[in-house]
Amino acid sequence: MPNQETVDVLVIGSGMGGATFSAGLAPSGAKILILERGERLLDSEAARDARAIFQRGVFRPRESWLDGAGQAFNPGNYYYVGGNTKLYGAVLIRNRAQDFEPISYREGTTTGWPFNYDELEPWYTRAEKLFRVRGAQDFDRTEPRHSAPYPFGPVPDEPAIAKVRERMTRVGLNPFPLPLGLDLDKWLKRAKTPWDAFPDTGCGKMDAESCGVNEALRHPNVELRTNARVERLLVEPDGKRIAGAEVVANGERQKIAARFVVLAAGAVNSAALLLRSREGGLANRSDAVGRHFMNHNCSAVLSIDPVTVNDSIYQKTLGINDFYLDDGKGGPPLGNIQLLGRVTAPILKTSLRLAPEWTLGLMSRRTVDWYAMSEDLPNPESRVTVEGGQIRLDWKRSNWAAHAGLVKAFRERLRAAGYPIVLSQPFDRRTPSHQCGTVRVGLDPSTSPLDPFCRAFDHPNLFVVDASFLPTSAAVNPSLTIAAQALRVADHVAKHDL
Ligand SMILES: Cc1cc2nc3c(=O)[nH]c(=O)nc-3n(C[C@H](O)[C@H](O)[C@H](O)COP(=O)(O)OP(=O)(O)OC[C@H]3O[C@@H](n4cnc5c(N)ncnc54)[C@H](O)[C@@H]3O)c2cc1C
Repeated sequence: MPNQETVDVLVIGSGMGGATFSAGLAPSGAKILILERGERLLDSEAARDARAIFQRGVFRPRESWLDGAGQAFNPGNYYYVGGNTKLYGAVLIRNRAQDFEPISYREGTTTGWPFNYDELEPWYTRAEKLFRVRGAQDFDRTEPRHSAPYPFGPVPDEPAIAKVRERMTRVGLNPFPLPLGLDLDKWLKRAKTPWDAFPDTGCGKMDAESCGVNEALRHPNVELRTNARVERLLVEPDGKRIAGAEVVANGERQKIAARFVVLAAGAVNSAALLLRSREGGLANRSDAVGRHFMNHNCSAVLSIDPVTVNDSIYQKTLGINDFYLDDGKGGPPLGNIQLLGRVTAPILKTSLRLAPEWTLGLMSRRTVDWYAMSEDLPNPESRVTVEGGQIRLDWKRSNWAAHAGLVKAFRERLRAAGYPIVLSQPFDRRTPSHQCGTVRVGLDPSTSPLDPFCRAFDHPNLFVVDASFLPTSAAVNPSLTIAAQALRVADHVAKHDL
């Protein structure tokens, strides 16, 4: 592309994958341009207001996708510098070592990864350092080997949650401190709210903006351009090398040439971008681009003890992995349980619309709020496609028996622990929070678009480093694994390509 702006590395998207990759590659001195379709998320009253966030959805995108039945919906997918991590719960947990191997469930067996836990371990350690993770290793029997301790000790339980921990222990469970990327004092100084699903406006969450983008920008060779939406990737006439990207930045359409393109627009948008860029899709010899969409099977589980008040503010400090490697009786695994951010009346109101908020307030004072999460299995028919320019997300849930088993097993323990009322509700399909798998890594170009270093088999200068690459979803939160792999790929590019 003569007379075009040219960079060494064009990074598309500044969320967990793109920002961490950029921070990892920045010391190489390569000229890196990060294109981000959103803006920085600025502070506002709404950022502390549960009604604005959950009832009025002021931070949600003005965008609709189609579901499998062709119905339009507004996705909970966030477009800001830092991507979905701006609203994340900041649980930064490693996949368990077993997650890299094939796992047998009642409804099928996962594929396993093209590399094992030990291969990724050094970059987990680096990611924990970059995101200043707070945690402790000695409480969870599923905790994999760490080559270095957590950089900081765990975020403390509030007194009400310390009592919940005791109750869980009494019924034979082994609660562990959730590893979190959070400066608690800074967060609470801004307002006494939880952080899970609340937007971070520079107030203590370790997210892809505060720890990734800002770290990358300390290097003069890195530039961030906001309000810059990539419309398609451009290919050289040989059909092999990616020439650059067509972008609409502040209303102006332009082409930017790059030696390397690193796609990190999120698992739905990256797949859509590849599919839009060329008839039949780019990087798509395998026909796998957009397929194997996974999102975790998740439910909110509310345990109510009518005589005990839960006066916690943030709540989210405990995890339970007693059903992670098996069902507790030697059967197939069920999944992970962790506390949600505190669910207050305005948040409950979004599910229980007919109830007056004051009655929900009475209820939430006595409720402890949990998140049950089970693996979603890769299915080629669960997929992202593009129809007339619009994204269609046909998510086919899988492994639901394991998830139902997890909720049931946990419900029994909660009742034994003195919570006579236990309510549960699955998270709905409009919440693609843990989206992944749509441009997966593998060893065989006929079944996977990417090699184990996230390089497209079809295009030697194209990498995809967001959650798309995950070949399986595991049953823990994905961000630390995305960050670790992004750092690993950055090292690989610095060593072999620049
Ligand atoms: C409410 C909520 C809570 C969560 N809690 C946790 C948690 O506690 N722990 C955890 O591990 N995970 C959590 N997650 C999930 C986590 O945020 C995601 O797994 C992670 O952000 C995915 O990283 P990514 O790089 O794939 O995509 P993202 O972080 O979403 O980044 C994609 C970026 O690409 C940009 N972009 C998209 N299209 C374009 C385009 N065409 N051109 C330019 N830029 C583009 C987007 O604006 C965005 O900035 C949560 C998510 C949500 C929504």
